[in-house]
Amino acid sequence: MRLIFLGPPGAGKGTQAARISERHGIPQLSTGDMLRAAAAAGSPVGLEAKKLIDAGALVPDEVVVGIVAERIEEPDAAKGFILDGFPRTVAQAEALDRMLASKGLSLDAVIEFVVDEGALLDRIATRAREMQERGQEVRKDDNPEVFKTRLEAFRKQTAPLSAHYAEKGQLEKIDGMKPIDEVTRDLVALLEKKAG
Ligand code: AMP
Repeated sequence: MRLIFLGPPGAGKGTQAARISERHGIPQLSTGDMLRAAAAAGSPVGLEAKKLIDAGALVPDEVVVGIVAERIEEPDAAKGFILDGFPRTVAQAEALDRMLASKGLSLDAVIEFVVDEGALLDRIATRAREMQERGQEVRKDDNPEVFKTRLEAFRKQTAPLSAHYAEKGQLEKIDGMKPIDEVTRDLVALLEKKAG
């Protein structure tokens, strides 16, 4: 199963992708995690990306597309994958379309998490607090100021993807405002329906 989880920062994509990944035995491919790992490793690409991530701006398409192209070649992605946080621009979506077409593969669904933007800042604040309580380093971009920039990037650059995938008949929507377990239940039901 090849899935895309689409939605603004704080919509719950990562939380749900981790659950569906475990349930279906397919990897969760989070470009945010991959970029943060590259930054932590101190590679030139990672360090360049870190400046943009910390500012709440998107990393250039060619960098992210290159990372995803390599990652989906790995053996664990052969059975499928959940793309969490990619694509984030129409150019990335088109690059992914070409990448999959060249392998004779297609997407099973693009799932948009529909959320009330007013609730997102609270969710981000909760994530920051929980990470701190677990002794993890709090993300520099999980603060109200940077969050505004991230939401703006989402509205301008990522929101148009809904129309891109709706035109292709691949878009499914899920209510991301429900409690976490209910969202998981809805997702599982949706994927079961898809699998027929
Ligand atoms: P996330 O962990 O998905 O919230 O992503 C954190 C940050 O990583 C974003 O604000 C961007 O700076 C960068 N990033 C992650 N995925 C992408 C992508 N597909 N395209 C561009 N930048 C990305």
